[in-house]
Amino acid sequence: MGTEQYRPFTETHVLALPLPFQGHINPMLQFSKRLASKGLKVTLLSFIDKQITRTKHGSVNIEFISSDGNKEDDYFQNLKSIVSIKLPEIVARNGESGYPVSCLLYDSVMPWALDIARELGLFGACLFTQSCAVSTIYYKAHEGALSTPVEKVPVSIEGMPLLDLYDLPSFFFDLENYPTVLTLLGNQFLNTGDADWVFFNTFCELEDEVINGMIARKFPIKPIGPSIPSMFLDKRIQDNKDYGLNLHKPNIENYMKWLDSNETCSVIYVSFGSLCIMGEKQMEEIAFGLKRSNHYFLWVVRESEEEKLPSNFVEETMEKGMIVTWCNQLEVLAHKSTGCFMTHCGWNSTMEALSLGVPMVAMPQWCDQTTNAKFVADVWRTGVRVKVDEEGIVTKEEIEMCLKEVMEGEIRKNCEKWKKLAKEAMDEDGSSDKNVEEFVAKLMPTSQ
Ligand code: UDP
Repeated sequence: MGTEQYRPFTETHVLALPLPFQGHINPMLQFSKRLASKGLKVTLLSFIDKQITRTKHGSVNIEFISSDGNKEDDYFQNLKSIVSIKLPEIVARNGESGYPVSCLLYDSVMPWALDIARELGLFGACLFTQSCAVSTIYYKAHEGALSTPVEKVPVSIEGMPLLDLYDLPSFFFDLENYPTVLTLLGNQFLNTGDADWVFFNTFCELEDEVINGMIARKFPIKPIGPSIPSMFLDKRIQDNKDYGLNLHKPNIENYMKWLDSNETCSVIYVSFGSLCIMGEKQMEEIAFGLKRSNHYFLWVVRESEEEKLPSNFVEETMEKGMIVTWCNQLEVLAHKSTGCFMTHCGWNSTMEALSLGVPMVAMPQWCDQTTNAKFVADVWRTGVRVKVDEEGIVTKEEIEMCLKEVMEGEIRKNCEKWKKLAKEAMDEDGSSDKNVEEFVAKLMPTSQ
């Protein structure tokens, strides 16, 4: 495993700049830790001070960038002006204290970070935190090959199954709510060709055709995923257990003990990530679908969603279920009792389930989740996708049926293949590990 050997620090210093959302912080932090384990000094820049009060996370330093005084209306414009002001100060300060910065590793949705890096004389490396398939679709929209509204379905894209409208990212069909997001996502490609490195949180074996398709379009992309701490991919390796940088907190601490007390593959883990907002009716159907399944379940209902739970549901299902406001998802997915993941198919959750061999009930809500769900069900075949009724609801009967299929059917066997391939990609000399090694070697002082 690539992270096994911890080498002494050198002077080479990378600044990591994630978009301040959970699904973007997690892969950036894990990638940073991998780089640190190979001898680089890495500082992760965080815009969020309330939840993240620490200055160190294992081998990675955390530095808070204050947004005081910068309150532009446009969210990204605001981030851009903060970074433009603060980054030169941070780079200068680190240079003076003997840790000169060589490279800025930035989230691909902040392409302007490359210009700032260049002005400061730094290498620029961007990290895409969504799948290569989804990014290819955004690229198609950017170059005008896919228009909105979509003119003809199904959509045919090299290396992908035929895509119906609802298999595309939601920004192609929910134009009313998100008229401009596609432009923002297309902008990721404005200067990708100029970056020194373009990393993706995926692995070659998972998305080989679409990755090769992007490379053929002159994007020299390097998969470095799955960005997951090695202890979860290989039980022999004991990483620091303190692996996450969570923006939410669990209300109940003993859920792992509760999992310990359950039988192998007997529990349904349910989570819709850090952002999804469910309607009350949908919450009710999920609750009753879980109840009807008659399986044990651990359900993450964030604080802001709790009031949508049907009355008395918690009391009535105490024997079978546990509801938490947050959990350490990787620990839950890696636990022997977890038999199925009912998920919104955020890219991190999808990669985590794939890499840990957990079959999924895919219940996408928006953004790239619809496309990820399509791949889970029809390409990787590690789960089933729920059907939505005419009113846009997934009924309790449908949920019960899908849970039964995943908990009691044959899908689990197919998950082993992806678990093995994910681990191999991250193992020493694996496809992703080689890309990380190559990056580190280029940045190390001896080879500059
Ligand atoms: N997560 C977690 N605990 C929870 C729910 C989610 O640690 O209770 C983590 C999960 O492991 C993943 C991230 O939060 O790494 C969510 O990212 P994802 O891309 O799946 O969804 P998003 O929140 O961006 O919609």
